[in-house]
Amino acid sequence: MYAYNKDRKHAVTEQATISLNRLLLGHQRFISGRPEKKTYSISELESLSEKQAPIAGIVCCSDSRVGPEIIFDQPLGTNFSSRVPGNVASDSAKWMLDIAINEFHVPLVMVVGHTGCLAVGQLPDGDRGGAGGALIRSTQSDLSSQELNPS
Ligand SMILES: [Zn+2]
Repeated sequence: MYAYNKDRKHAVTEQATISLNRLLLGHQRFISGRPEKKTYSISELESLSEKQAPIAGIVCCSDSRVGPEIIFDQPLGTNFSSRVPGNVASDSAKWMLDIAINEFHVPLVMVVGHTGCLAVGQLPDGDRGGAGGALIRSTQSDLSSQELNPS
């Protein structure tokens, strides 16, 4: 039984490395200004509407400058993602990861942060009375507990 789990862990780790390398190579194409041209035939779109096989679950900020398919230069159907201001672990982001892992068996989970994040910049101000108040309070609480209990 141990050998089976060890082999499975090795296979999953190998798949995660392959997925990570694919995303990193895509990011290199993106930052070099040489992304792959992406157009889809009707049959490809019909196929995508019927099934998907993502290689990663990605939590990414809602910021208009960091769309994961674009910054990782990946075609439709590659990333199963949730975009949340500040890329925080909202309930919907956690649900997305649950689906990505348990339904699509993605080998890789990635949280994508970025510089100049407006949402992260708002955290020190606390709840400003908007729709994100509860999530801001929850995130501040999580951060405070991490500061008190560094691991
Ligand atoms: Zn952001």
